[in-house]
Amino acid sequence: MNAKVWLVGAGPGDPELLTLKAVRALRSAEVVMIDSLVNPAVLEHCPSAKVIAVGKRGGCRSTPQAFIHRLMLRYARQGKCVVRLKGGDPCIFGRGSEEAEWLRDRGVDVELVNGITAGLAGATQCDIPLTLRGVARGVTLVTAHTEDDSTLNWQALAQSGTTLVVYMGVAKLDEVRRELLAGGMAGDTPVAMIENASLPQQRVCFSDVSGMQAAALAFDLKAPAVMVIGEVVAQGSQRLGREGVEAVVGLGTQWLSA
Ligand code: SAH
Repeated sequence: MNAKVWLVGAGPGDPELLTLKAVRALRSAEVVMIDSLVNPAVLEHCPSAKVIAVGKRGGCRSTPQAFIHRLMLRYARQGKCVVRLKGGDPCIFGRGSEEAEWLRDRGVDVELVNGITAGLAGATQCDIPLTLRGVARGVTLVTAHTEDDSTLNWQALAQSGTTLVVYMGVAKLDEVRRELLAGGMAGDTPVAMIENASLPQQRVCFSDVSGMQAAALAFDLKAPAVMVIGEVVAQGSQRLGREGVEAVVGLGTQWLSA
């Protein structure tokens, strides 16, 4: 049998958002390599596996990618069942396909398992539909962070009429705000900034494009957070406002005017 690695999405944090397939992979795992954004609670499904933390966090010391590759390869070639567990979905800003390609080039079988990506979970936690008939015909996931300093076509994004979900944006809020306004997005377009989506410590800050940076500062928004930008956000903010924050378990909501 060929060596095999499972590249598995652990979802945004709530262990109940794991897929059944992810649980099955974890149950058979002998070695689990885990990213820093993965909730360790999911490891209850692999109590006897060897767990190796290979986390990367923006701005912090992190395990070099080449080392992670070699480690996966070594254990897979030893015939071990290896699960590489990543936050959210392995292929949404997760390098899942790079790792899969590297392993396949070396004769290792790879199976990718979806996880619920943070932007999707964050929006749902706030009752925000990312698409909505008559309001948003689509959704665009973007990262504000690049390694090569390439720029996004913010003007096209601002004018796309789709909901925008920005990952890795906490340190780039001023740039996101300026670019969207310069690109023609209305300053009063609603924004939800969702920190620790789906975890008990989840917090949400509602604002609008003009006020998003000031609001995030006052709120002391911290990574990991996703920003959902678009008219659909009004759906969630209206509902949470009407029902009160106590109605939503584990959700701290703070209102800030722009
Ligand atoms: N593969 C992951 C994304 C990894 S990039 C996924 O599909 O979700 C890391 C970024 O994801 C963070 O900077 C943040 O923007 C977002 N993120 C991950 N987990 C999050 C969470 N629980 N709450 C809010 N944002 C999260």
